Amino acid sequence: MDLTTVTGHRRATGRADLALTPGETYLAGGTWLFSEPQPGLTGLVDLGSLGWAPLEELSSGGVRIGATCTIAQLHAWPWPSAVADLVGQCADSLLMSFKVQHAATVGGNVCLALPAGAMIALLTALDAEAVIWTPDGGERREPVATLVRDPGLTSLTRGEVLRALEVAPAALAASYAFARIALTPYGRTSAMVIARRDARGATLTIAGSTPRPLVLEVASEAEVGAAIDTIHEWYADPHGAPDWRAAMTRRLAVETVCRVLS
Ligand SMILES: Cc1cc2nc3c(=O)[nH]c(=O)nc-3n(C[C@H](O)[C@H](O)[C@H](O)COP(=O)(O)OP(=O)(O)OC[C@H]3O[C@@H](n4cnc5c(N)ncnc54)[C@H](O)[C@@H]3O)c2cc1C
Repeated sequence: MDLTTVTGHRRATGRADLALTPGETYLAGGTWLFSEPQPGLTGLVDLGSLGWAPLEELSSGGVRIGATCTIAQLHAWPWPSAVADLVGQCADSLLMSFKVQHAATVGGNVCLALPAGAMIALLTALDAEAVIWTPDGGERREPVATLVRDPGLTSLTRGEVLRALEVAPAALAASYAFARIALTPYGRTSAMVIARRDARGATLTIAGSTPRPLVLEVASEAEVGAAIDTIHEWYADPHGAPDWRAAMTRRLAVETVCRVLS
């Protein structure tokens, strides 16, 4: 849609360009920014012109995902097969994903902090760390699991820019099982569960059905019920009632833990 209040568009080419003036915000893929009215928004600072590498191998053996990496680029990276399957399942989880994958960025999905944020669930399951540029020229790091605080709310303060998301080698060697449910076959995610097994044991990432991503430790299928019982806040919106989301999450959690531990 046209953003009729926007009168300025700056293409950032270096860090100095990222200082926001009143009324400005960052533009990544623009798939959300241009999808609904943005009252009070007068200017866009385009991150796409910064030329950040979409993906890079780290010397540690991990992977660094640039915040402006598109979901399609993330999908195309040569991940180990277990991670590749998970990336594909998460990429396909966005509502009408085939339309947005080539424009929507991984960083934009994280910064939006929607409960149905498939990249948030993916990066939480991968135990990824966000690299954040602060307005004073510094940098801070935070797990994606805590960066996302509530629907539409992250720990980012005005002028902070999500620069990258780093995945450690341990996540690349882990096994995963993914399950998701929505009210319609291609609908917005109502609940998403990712079970992970690595040398430390098994964890569950719960997303979509809760206001923020949750990570629960489970040693066996028998522990799943008690782990789900620790969740006291279920998300409510037109994509599912809280009690239904709780029941579906429990079912998907048992299913994924059984698969990942078998
Ligand atoms: C058809 C369609 C279906 C969708 N389905 C889903 C869905 O199922 N689940 C879901 O979660 N979302 C969904 N979305 C929304 C989706 O999350 C976003 O469209 C997309 O992931 C956001 O990425 P973007 O690069 O387009 O961000 P933009 O729209 O450019 O920006 C989104 C927000 O993040 C901020 N931002 C972006 N990058 C950075 C950065 N690096 N640092 C700081 N702030 C930044 C922007 O200022 C803006 O506030 C859908 C959107 C569409 C159009």
